[in-house]
Amino acid sequence: MKHCCQIRVKGIVQGVGFRPFIYRIAALFHIMGRVWNDTQGVLIHAEGGEDDIRDFIQEISANPPPLAVIQDIEQVEIPCAGYGDFTIVPSRVLETRSTFIPPDICICDECLEELFDPEDKRFQYPFITCTNCGPRFSIVDDIPYDRSRTSMEQFSLCPYCRGEYEDPQNRRFHTQPVACPACGPHLTLHKNTGEVVSVEIRDIVTRTVQLIREGNIIAIKGTGGYLLGADARQDSAVLKLRERKCRPFKAFALMAGTVERIKDFCHVTEHEKSLLLSKERPIVLLLEKEPLVSRHIAPSGIYQGVMLPYMPFHYQLFHEDPSMVLIMTSGNVSDEPIVFRDRDAFTKLSHIADYFVTYDRDIISQTDDSVVFADGDETHFIRRSRGYVPAPFYTGKGTCHILSAGGDLKNSFALAKDDTIILSQYLGDLATPGGNRQYRDTVDRFQKIYDFSPEIIVSDLHPGYFTTAIADEFAEKGLRRIRVQHHHAHIASVIEDRSIEGSVIGIAYDGTGYGTDGTLWGSEIMVADRMEFSRMGHFSYFPLPGGESAITDVWKIGISLLHQCYGRDVPLLDEEKGKDVIFEIIEKKINSPMTCSIGRIFDGIAAILGLSRTISTEAEAAQRLEMAAMNGINPFAVPYEIPFIQEDGFVIRTDALTRYIVELLQEGRDVESIAYLFHLAIAKTTENVVAFIAREKNINNIVLSGGVFQNRLLLSMVREFLEKNGLQVYLPRRIPVNDGCIAMGQIAVAKEMVGNGKV
Ligand code: ZN
Ligand code: ZN
Ligand code: FE
Repeated sequence: MKHCCQIRVKGIVQGVGFRPFIYRIAALFHIMGRVWNDTQGVLIHAEGGEDDIRDFIQEISANPPPLAVIQDIEQVEIPCAGYGDFTIVPSRVLETRSTFIPPDICICDECLEELFDPEDKRFQYPFITCTNCGPRFSIVDDIPYDRSRTSMEQFSLCPYCRGEYEDPQNRRFHTQPVACPACGPHLTLHKNTGEVVSVEIRDIVTRTVQLIREGNIIAIKGTGGYLLGADARQDSAVLKLRERKCRPFKAFALMAGTVERIKDFCHVTEHEKSLLLSKERPIVLLLEKEPLVSRHIAPSGIYQGVMLPYMPFHYQLFHEDPSMVLIMTSGNVSDEPIVFRDRDAFTKLSHIADYFVTYDRDIISQTDDSVVFADGDETHFIRRSRGYVPAPFYTGKGTCHILSAGGDLKNSFALAKDDTIILSQYLGDLATPGGNRQYRDTVDRFQKIYDFSPEIIVSDLHPGYFTTAIADEFAEKGLRRIRVQHHHAHIASVIEDRSIEGSVIGIAYDGTGYGTDGTLWGSEIMVADRMEFSRMGHFSYFPLPGGESAITDVWKIGISLLHQCYGRDVPLLDEEKGKDVIFEIIEKKINSPMTCSIGRIFDGIAAILGLSRTISTEAEAAQRLEMAAMNGINPFAVPYEIPFIQEDGFVIRTDALTRYIVELLQEGRDVESIAYLFHLAIAKTTENVVAFIAREKNINNIVLSGGVFQNRLLLSMVREFLEKNGLQVYLPRRIPVNDGCIAMGQIAVAKEMVGNGKV
């Protein structure tokens, strides 16, 4: 008796070899019928014996292709059509779109082998790819995911590639970016004037390696944008790049050919090794072991951000010279987004790069390299972008269309639709016109590729944020509007990511976020759930001379902290020429908003300890303080418990902390031990306050978020101290603790409000 059913498979099932897989297993289970892609995923018309169909469906869910993520399989009985074979038929466009686009992943082992096989048709061809590897998100212009809707459209398949593309037994069956030297994209090497130097791949590889050895900076078009490559072992090359990029401090990412090579200069644990080798190929922050690369790569000293090659061309470079260690940093101008359009590359990067390696296929969506670090067996994100985006988060509960604008720093936005949340790639800081434009473009593109028209728009409370203005624009079009306090969003993002039920105590140790009272928050200890929060504690306020925009002058924050304790009779400042002006500003309350940000306390203390005066990148002072503390670790140190007062909750006395630090300095203690004692005091006091609230409110789940927890020393101390009290500590697993999580938190709050009829 023949049975017949229609099977719908949802999830990441396009561009991952799903239809060929179905084709192959259909033969295995004697299934006749059809399979095709549509805008909701993959649809199968299957006819066969009852048991065979059952086993066929079982096989789909048990052994899908490596890159597929099945979210759901639905089946309905339908009348038989009497097919005599099983075939793959063209994609159909439906009304509603709910399918997903796979992220960009690294070249697979099979393609890598062919790349270096002189007998292979694609020997030395830098755009070799197959169903299991290569670019996806970055080249997709629309769905369903078909070659005609990608930037491969302009390259028509040669007979050889077409043969593979159409052969269901072939690894490249329906691989949209499939190409060969005869029909696909090509690399070219240029001078920074645009003049072509070489168009022949062997020549480009050898010349590029030679140019790098000679100390040149090469802009290399990658998967999601241009990277700037240079020899990481030459001080002069590194310093030249720092100068041209106007980037005196922030560490550069590195690329090395193999894990073994990385082990020559970094410690690599098994978990870190698996992160380095994962198909997403993130930058992994590793503890430095030996000084192999220039000391100017990471002036903060402790960690090196390293990744393995992910594009064929990267492998070709390291094949030429396996000993190389390259800087591979995002090609952008100071705080602007990564450059990904060829026309921008030559205008914006020609004063930084000496040469360009580019290719004639467009990048449609830009992505930066992702950044992670390992804490034991856990992975923490600093930046979630290439390799991970736009993989969806499944929530299990349906929702209306919600767009969350995110925050203005380290921006990602997010959309929620049905039972998924999709977080955009990292879009950086939105302070520049270029950043603003890129943000708008990317929101537009996401609306298009996900057929998404938001009903609700969510933003931060901050009245000055660009993202708030964007939300206002959407609201003017009639969307319902929700505003979520910055630190509530931080905590809610973790509640969502870790699926925590009930109330938690959230610790948001952060830079600044706009508070419900209009002041600048940033050390919030709160009892929170998805819906609401109540602020239970924070550090006491101090003036921020010059306001939020002046936070690069951390010396001013140092003076402000000292002035709060000692008035004008400040110790330690005899040499400080600018102090009187700052005193004036503070006393007359000229552009000196009050803040309780712990991020700013780190800045101010770093200044008082003489570790930093002005900073060129966010968290620079805090990183110097952390580095100093790492050199001052003392397991026998007795923690200082910062006194707190109970007003509207616990107010931890920032002035007492400052006084403690000053007294240590006056006792002649060295800066490293003081830096360590400062960390210890904050962790210990946090424990005291949180343990008290936990007992009082009978809450056991503690959530940590906020950029300050990127400080690994503080993070490990706070976690250890809380766990010692029997508390369960949660950190995000799939999103960052920094402001990259804000959009996710905003969605979490909005979904809950919608679910409870509060919007
Ligand atoms: Zn492959
Ligand atoms: Zn071809
Ligand atoms: Fe924040």
